[in-house]
Amino acid sequence: GSIGQVTWKKTPCRFCGTGCGLLVGVMGDRAVAVKGDPNCSVNKGLCCVKGYHSIQALYGKDRITKAKVRKGGKMVEVPIAEALDLVAAKLQETRKKYGKDSVAIYGSGQWTIPDGYVASKLFKGCLGTNNVEANARLCMASAVTGFFTTFGIDEPMGCYEDIEHADVFVTWGNNMAEMHPVLFSRMLASRKRRGNVTIIDFATRTTRTSQAADKSIIFRPNTDLAVANAICYEIIRNDWVNWDFVEKHTTFHKGKTNIGYGTEDHFSFKDKPESITFEEYKEFLKDYTPEKVEKISGVSARDIKYLASLYGDPTKKCTSFWCMGMNQHVRGTWINNLVYNIHLLTGKISTPGNSPFSLTGQPSACGTVREVGTLTHKLPHGVVMNEHDRKLAAEIWDVPVSNIDPKPTYHTVEMFRALDRGDIRFMWIQVTNPMITMPNLNRYRNGALKEDRFIVVSDVYPTPTTDVADVILPATFWIEQEGMFGNSERRTQHFERIVPGPGETMSDTWQIIEVARRLGFQKQFPWSEENYIEKIWEEYRRFHNNPKHNMAPYKVLKARSGVQWPFVNGKETRWRFNAKYDPACKPGTDFDFYGKKDGKAWIWARPYEPAAESPDKEYDFWLNTGRVIEHWHTGSLTRRIPVLHRAVPESYVEINPEDAAELGIVNGEKVRIISRRGSVVMKASINGRGVPPRGMVFVPFFDESYKINEVTLDAFCPISKQPDYKKCAVRLEKA
Ligand code: SF4
Repeated sequence: GSIGQVTWKKTPCRFCGTGCGLLVGVMGDRAVAVKGDPNCSVNKGLCCVKGYHSIQALYGKDRITKAKVRKGGKMVEVPIAEALDLVAAKLQETRKKYGKDSVAIYGSGQWTIPDGYVASKLFKGCLGTNNVEANARLCMASAVTGFFTTFGIDEPMGCYEDIEHADVFVTWGNNMAEMHPVLFSRMLASRKRRGNVTIIDFATRTTRTSQAADKSIIFRPNTDLAVANAICYEIIRNDWVNWDFVEKHTTFHKGKTNIGYGTEDHFSFKDKPESITFEEYKEFLKDYTPEKVEKISGVSARDIKYLASLYGDPTKKCTSFWCMGMNQHVRGTWINNLVYNIHLLTGKISTPGNSPFSLTGQPSACGTVREVGTLTHKLPHGVVMNEHDRKLAAEIWDVPVSNIDPKPTYHTVEMFRALDRGDIRFMWIQVTNPMITMPNLNRYRNGALKEDRFIVVSDVYPTPTTDVADVILPATFWIEQEGMFGNSERRTQHFERIVPGPGETMSDTWQIIEVARRLGFQKQFPWSEENYIEKIWEEYRRFHNNPKHNMAPYKVLKARSGVQWPFVNGKETRWRFNAKYDPACKPGTDFDFYGKKDGKAWIWARPYEPAAESPDKEYDFWLNTGRVIEHWHTGSLTRRIPVLHRAVPESYVEINPEDAAELGIVNGEKVRIISRRGSVVMKASINGRGVPPRGMVFVPFFDESYKINEVTLDAFCPISKQPDYKKCAVRLEKA
């Protein structure tokens, strides 16, 4: 090729929720190089291995470049306009035959903000169904319900700058070294620079994070609930409570207990919160003395007291980090509440370095799913149940308010169960791979394959999900389109169209607009291809016209490497609820938890309850699943990046060396993992990068050749409806 000039363009990384700023070097029509953006405050020029190699995901040999439709059992290439005609016709036909709630869209935390926004506008506003969900239900829902129950408003109060201020870090079931590597490096750099910084890894297995931590503490699955309560017990017993803060800014509550596991088909749950006094809360904690909790959790009373003393020390600033370990949990909402309790009792919140910090997995779990509200009960900044929110949406969307159904329909697991039952007949899946990621997978794949189900899949590479599709729509990927993501610290990041997409690829946003127009909604989707992202952003921004969550204008987003909301009077807000930093706080207050009517955050009495399925005589091991640094989720992108694929070419099962010896299994030998739902055979990894404790095995889920989710359990947190991928019972056999 010709030798030309390389131009550098800014974009957030396409992979994790850290939201690192990248500079992509472009030559002609091709992205040829990547470096970290030194002007982005998130990563200051650093990337992880996925970021550095990210552009190669654009150029895998088997990109989907043409639309395909199923004809006589075979997938046949057709012009994209014809495929879009079919999608619109089938959607219309299904609605007529089976009713408005028989059609659904299932999206992603990898949707751009405009993608999610137009999906919600079409389905909730125009078609009148709340059948809009996103895969973030499988990864972030418990964080959202945790925020709402404690603070009445979503998303972290702090920001990544907390890392430069905190003296103590506790990672709660969070292998940051692999999942949020750039933030992890920032934390290690902070320790190195300042000395006297303590990092505690509190987890169910040993990982690279444990290796770099000052101390690793291992607890039995699900007993983090008991340990968090024991920490609060100790904080009160030692009088480390920040009374001034607690009296002014908190109230105490309890909810329903023995709440089951959300395994039934039509599970509906009401929490029924009740006020309690501090004395009642103290009484509740009597069941959680360190000695009692040692027996439940396997964590020594000494270690529990040590953890409590770190949080309790008034001279130390404390930051807690968590992600899937706490969210993919049958008591996910509760464990989020309990970690907030620790920070609220000690007043270590909303100030630099004092931060209970819920991290996100996907690049736009916050931006697209939580802020746009692509979940069945949500609207952009609001909920369908609230009349005021419905009126605002109807006005901005230019639809009759009666179109917006006040009742939520199905959360993700329930949506796939409805597809299985036949209550849903048409499903459009964009940027996600549920035929790998649904727990208890066989059940949901069989449902998708049933007679008279119509599945549309928009994606960039073939996956087990495109295998069940009746129509495949070729999608543009990342910088082949303009868009925005929102990362873990409330930062909205804009990227422009940097390179053209191949063949007939089209952005997910534009695919939805094309179908909406075919359905007769030209008035609601009037934009032109030249500037639709700007127009959509400015329309969407009207939902957030409020100092509590104002978003930056398009021009500001375009000019900067990300802007944190609330963006008020031209300024970003780094610490919310603290009057020094957050202009939405009431005048004359120091802290204002304005998500709650009285400005006070809730401290919750939430008990320890065991997991939905625990090991027994027949199935005697815990199964835990997760990720590795090299691969992104189901690997459909990173397995097409040669260097990442070579680094970890296939999945494996980590077994404790003593368990392996007992079973007569050596490293690399094949093992069958069997649960009540399915089985999978894979190679054993003994003393590899992670070591589970005795009685537990760990499997990364990135490899579609080993469908570990055929083995996992589809029980979920009854409040958040998020499934628990971190624990179920299995047995092992030499294969
Ligand atoms: Fe991308 Fe996350 Fe790695 Fe940053 S840490 S480069 S956002 S994958």
